[in-house]
Order: sequence, then structure tokens, then C-alpha cells
Amino acid sequence: KAKRQGRNTYQWYTRDLNHKVSERVAMRNALQRAIDEQQFELYYQPQVDGATGAIIGFEALIRWRHPQRGYISPIDFIGLAEDTGQIIPISHWVLNTACRDSVHLNGLGLGDFLMAVNVSPMQFHRPHFLDSVFEALEASQLPPRLLELELTEGVLMDSSESAIDSLHELRRRGIHIAIDDFGTGFSSLSYLKQLPIDKIKIDRSFVREVISDHRDAAIVQGILSMAGPLQLRVVAEGVETQAQFAYLKKHLCDAFQGYHFARPMPLAELEGFLREYQATQRLQQARQNGDA
Ligand code: C2E
Ligand code: MG
Ligand code: MG
Ligand code: MG
Repeated sequence: KAKRQGRNTYQWYTRDLNHKVSERVAMRNALQRAIDEQQFELYYQPQVDGATGAIIGFEALIRWRHPQRGYISPIDFIGLAEDTGQIIPISHWVLNTACRDSVHLNGLGLGDFLMAVNVSPMQFHRPHFLDSVFEALEASQLPPRLLELELTEGVLMDSSESAIDSLHELRRRGIHIAIDDFGTGFSSLSYLKQLPIDKIKIDRSFVREVISDHRDAAIVQGILSMAGPLQLRVVAEGVETQAQFAYLKKHLCDAFQGYHFARPMPLAELEGFLREYQATQRLQQARQNGDA
């Protein structure tokens, strides 16, 4: 009986596995079409400075509009694209588009904004990664000091000599380095003192219940008190409420990103958003001055 059960389980397993494999093949083919037919878009989510309340930059976030299946989240295709190597052409498009759009944004006369771009591990470890970054800057004429690359802790975990050299070279050129999803990886903290890192982004999972869960609060406070002496700037991700914002600000978080301020939006909406945001800010300042 046990044997039979085992066999059933096996059959069930292979059927399930075959299904998964064919699903992955279909997805890979769909991704290839998306690359060839340019079905990707970049959305931009504002980042807000804690001290001034001003918009200081944007994070570029990829969107895939599949002609039949509609919107597909990056969470559902970036991992596969990493496995298949398709992340390379996708990342190339992301970097170049983000730099070009950033030049457009900075030309509006509404301020200088940092453009943060997510870099996947495979992309970072490729021999020509640095060249692809410098080429995107060159082609767009974006000043390097306005580009920030977001790396995850995983990228730094197996940081070979050449990876460390790459980081230093990026820094020498004036490009900023941020650690994304900080606190969710398994890396040691020693890289924070060894590597040229400008910024850490507190993962959304710690921000979500920072008000109600004392453990999240302890982690967030720990990150914030460590960052100051290390001269790291801190951005909180996924700030959705005024209470989370107030709490993080009280504990000296430098900058904020989340639905409380703005959702990611297409380039076409950014100018209107910025003008309205800045007008509201001026009004508030005038009111404060008037009251004083
Ligand atoms: P991430 O880099 O940590 O990006 C932040 C994610 O949080 C984004 O999800 C953003 O839309 C979402 N988010 C922002 N504010 C809030 C909030 O207040 N509440 C909630 N619930 N979510 C918020 P998104 O755009 O779905 O991207 C997911 C992940 O996919 C990103 O996480 C990043 O790891 C990856 N990704 C996105 N675009 C790219 C890309 O161009 N290249 C690479 N390699 N990865 C990308
Ligand atoms: Mg990111
Ligand atoms: Mg993040
Ligand atoms: Mg995150």
C-alpha cells in the first residue's frame, strides 16, 4: 500500500512539475515578446525629505502591460528574468529609460531630483555592468550625482573583489549606492563599514506595524540609531499612514517613500504632480509664516 501511495504521490508530483515547467516556458516566451515588442513601462514613485517635506527624488519601478493578461507585477517576472538571463536586456532598457526620463524631469525647472534604479544581482555581477551604467549616463547626459543604484543585501553577501571594486568605481564617479529592503537579507553588517554605501532603505515589512508592534519599532530604531554615526542616510519604504510618518520622523529618519505621499506614476503624470505638490507646500509655508 505504501508503495502505491508513493507512486501516486510521484505521479501527482510529476504532473504538477510538468505543469510548472510548461508554465515557466510560456512565461519565458511571453517575456521575450515583451522585450521585443517593448511592453514595459516605468513608473516613478516620489521620495520625500523629512526635514523640508520636499520631493528629493524618485524610484523607477518597472511595469509590464501584457496585451492579453493585463498588468503583471515585477514580483512575478523579475525572478524568472534573472534565471533566464532576460534580466539583462530588461535592465538595459530600465537604466536607459530612467536616465532619459530623469533628464526630462530635471529640465522642468522644478528642482534637481535623484533617480533611483533597482539593480538585480545578475545584472550587477556581469562583467560589463559598469560600462552599461556609464553608457546610460553618457547617452542621456544625466549627471552621475543624480543617479542612485539600489542593490539588495544579497548582492553584497558574496561580494568578490571585483564587486567591491565596482562599488568604489561607481562612487568615484559620483553615483549613489543604496541598500534596498535593508534588514531582510542574511548578510553581516560589516559591509556597512567596508563598502561605499550612501543610503539604506528600511524594508516595508518593518514599517508596516512600526506603531503597533514593539519588535518592529525596536528594529527600526536600531537601524536609525546605527545609521547616523555611520553617515548613512535612511529612507523608509512603504509609509502608508500619517502615524508611521510621524513616528519615523521623530526617530530621525531622513526620507520617506510610500502611498501616504504618492503612488508610483507614469512620467506623464509627474510634472502635474510636482507642480501641485510644490504649490501646496508653498501655501502651507505661507500659512505658517502668517500665523507666526
Ligand atoms: P522595491 O525595490 O523594494 O520597490 C518598492 C515596492 O514597494 C514597489 O513595488 C512599490 O510600488 C511598493 N510600494 C511603495 N510604496 C508602498 C506602500 O506605501 N505600500 C505598499 N504596500 N507598497 C508600496 P513594485 O513596483 O511592485 O516592485 C516590486 C519589486 O520588484 C521592487 O521592490 C524591486 O525589487 C523589483 N523591481 C521593480 N522594478 C524593477 C526594475 O526595474 N529592475 C529590477 N531588477 N527590479 C525591479
Ligand atoms: Mg527598490
Ligand atoms: Mg525596496
Ligand atoms: Mg521592499
